[in-house]
Amino acid sequence: MTTRNSQKTQILVIGGGPGGSTAATLLAREGFDVTLVERDAFPRYHIGESLLPSVLDFLELMGVRDKVEAYGFQRKPGGHIEWGSQQWDLFFNELTGAHTHSFQVIRSEFDQLLLDHAQEQGVNVLQCVEVNKIHFDKTDERRPCAATVSRVDEEGQRWDIHFDYLVDASGRTGIMANRYLRNRKYHEVFKNVAVWGYWADADRLPTPKEGAIATVSIPNGWIWAIPLHDGTLSVGVVMHKDSFKEKQNHQSLEELYQEALAESPTVNALIAPGQRISDLKVETDYSYASTQFAGPGYFLVGDAACFLDPLLSTGVHLAMLSGMLTAVTITATERNDVTAAEGLEFYENSYRSAYMRLLVFLTAFYHQYDGKESIFWMARRLTHHDIPEQNVKLAFTTLMSGVEDLMDVREGAEPITRDLVLDEMSRRVAENLKIRQDKMAMTAAYTTDIRQENASFFGKVEGLDAIARTPENALGGLYIFTSPRLGLAHISQAQPLPTDAQLNY
Ligand SMILES: Cc1cc2nc3c(=O)[nH]c(=O)nc-3n(C[C@H](O)[C@H](O)[C@H](O)COP(=O)(O)OP(=O)(O)OC[C@H]3O[C@@H](n4cnc5c(N)ncnc54)[C@H](O)[C@@H]3O)c2cc1C
Repeated sequence: MTTRNSQKTQILVIGGGPGGSTAATLLAREGFDVTLVERDAFPRYHIGESLLPSVLDFLELMGVRDKVEAYGFQRKPGGHIEWGSQQWDLFFNELTGAHTHSFQVIRSEFDQLLLDHAQEQGVNVLQCVEVNKIHFDKTDERRPCAATVSRVDEEGQRWDIHFDYLVDASGRTGIMANRYLRNRKYHEVFKNVAVWGYWADADRLPTPKEGAIATVSIPNGWIWAIPLHDGTLSVGVVMHKDSFKEKQNHQSLEELYQEALAESPTVNALIAPGQRISDLKVETDYSYASTQFAGPGYFLVGDAACFLDPLLSTGVHLAMLSGMLTAVTITATERNDVTAAEGLEFYENSYRSAYMRLLVFLTAFYHQYDGKESIFWMARRLTHHDIPEQNVKLAFTTLMSGVEDLMDVREGAEPITRDLVLDEMSRRVAENLKIRQDKMAMTAAYTTDIRQENASFFGKVEGLDAIARTPENALGGLYIFTSPRLGLAHISQAQPLPTDAQLNY
């Protein structure tokens, strides 16, 4: 390494999106010296506006929920879904009562709020600073130990930041995965292209669905309509890359977008009184995962590790979940609650299983579509490459009721297979739809058990129980505790929790 000005920090976080802000905030609140570098000047535009209710739990843990609740973002009571010939409304809490709402957010404002909060919690936030190069330890070549960074607004100013831990939350750029580990693998089935724009004066769904996301299938894909607090409506079309390419041979982007929107009477009715006020934006939303999410001294967080098709609005949830898991793992390792190897294994397994569960859920959801005539709908079957058998069991070990049911189905004999899990997940999704479609049955006593079991299953799949604070939710013998501080505990050491005296580390 050449001699340059250098700086030292305990933990370097790359990226000021929700993943980076979550990890940095939680680590700073645990007393670590954290530096976060962000290439852009905030506020900066970002897609990913519809949040799952689980996000509220992470915001709470970071101490920023009140600020988000008070900000004025559009409250999201749930979703309106039109899927093939079926349609239903989904209201958070109608099955579990866990959360009554989430938010639709303008990401530039939401991300800025989280980044400002990180700074207030003691994180050294450097905006307009880009990571150009990562350096690895001379004795352990797998361990990153420093980064060369440069100011993007004052050309030529470069320096090195040395660190003990690297948290790569650089989003789809994926510095570690793409430049050094070269371990990002794309899923063949979810190679989509998204085209979207913003509408003023558009209608909203009628009360009590006002504020809900509308997700509507069309023959070549699906459409989202997300109401935002500045009065605009975000409207996007997702289609398979082959359909997109084929249409682009004879259609402009504008024509392609308008033609797709015209396929949905519901979306058409929403945008009829309005006009589009933005250019069209295009992004490929190919789903991918790195083959390894963590290694000696480093963690891949959020999109830097994996990305899932946006249908279920899971991106910010996964980013904040992995940011939280990283903070817990580093904290527990540094305090010798677990060994470094145990910590890495915990992180790898927890984040991967959360991702895999949502991947299988996504596939089962796509399977519910009942008109499979076009390439988009025919191509939704996961392959061995997309979901290796060894990951299936891992993904489902924390879904206790799910696994028990699967055990019953297979009579304790043969191993849990990918097809079995997919079939079981499809059955659960179908059952869930039946319950949701029949609002009368939903309140009837005889469905209560099925309802609760179904709600509990999806609560775990969707990550509503993401902050598993009990030994029953342990993974690999370890579970997370969040009070009086963040940490990991072995099941065997479940009681008692550390005392204040023990916390004088
Ligand atoms: C079409 C589409 C629709 C989506 N819809 C939704 C939705 O409705 N709901 C949802 O939850 N998710 C959605 N997502 C996913 C969501 O956008 C992401 O999953 C989420 O933003 C991931 O957060 P992150 O913190 O991992 O990364 P990001 O939010 O991307 O943050 C990464 C940050 O790293 C910075 N960075 C990159 N490289 C460097 C570098 N070299 N040096 C310094 N900084 C760097 C970037 O500037 C960026 O600010 C959607 C995605 C797509 C493509």
